Amino acid sequence: MSSNDQAPINQDEVRRILDQHKDKTKTALRVCAHCSLCADSCFLYHVHDKDPRYMPSHKFINSLGKLYKKKGKIDRAGFKEIEEIVWRRCVLCTRCYCPLGIDIPEMIAIARDICRSQEVFFQWSELEQPAE
Ligand code: SF4
Ligand code: SF4
Repeated sequence: MSSNDQAPINQDEVRRILDQHKDKTKTALRVCAHCSLCADSCFLYHVHDKDPRYMPSHKFINSLGKLYKKKGKIDRAGFKEIEEIVWRRCVLCTRCYCPLGIDIPEMIAIARDICRSQEVFFQWSELEQPAE
């Protein structure tokens, strides 16, 4: 998380971004059949031994989907969980395929925009340094 992780969440700004993408988000959440077919096309899902937390649908439902369902009312702790999903469990490679046409990378990119607006983003400095 950024150094600004004590600042209050600007929910008006979060809602403003959510509103810009409301129709797409609502449709994706409604259309998703939870069939898990998208999982097969995500390399991160495979390299993490098919951990369900790496399924593309799981990632969009628990990031943008969560923000949408809670109407942006998510605190810093909630944002920390979303940060983990959108910055560390997805690289926006756009390789995931949904037979129902849900653009999952776009959903995750919107969630990243919302995170950025609250200064919640991945920091390379948080990575452990290799032992010398
Ligand atoms: S995003 Fe598409 S492929 Fe993935 S679970 Fe939902 S409907 Fe199935
Ligand atoms: S865009 Fe994200 S969810 Fe889709 S295949 Fe790439 S890493 Fe997986």
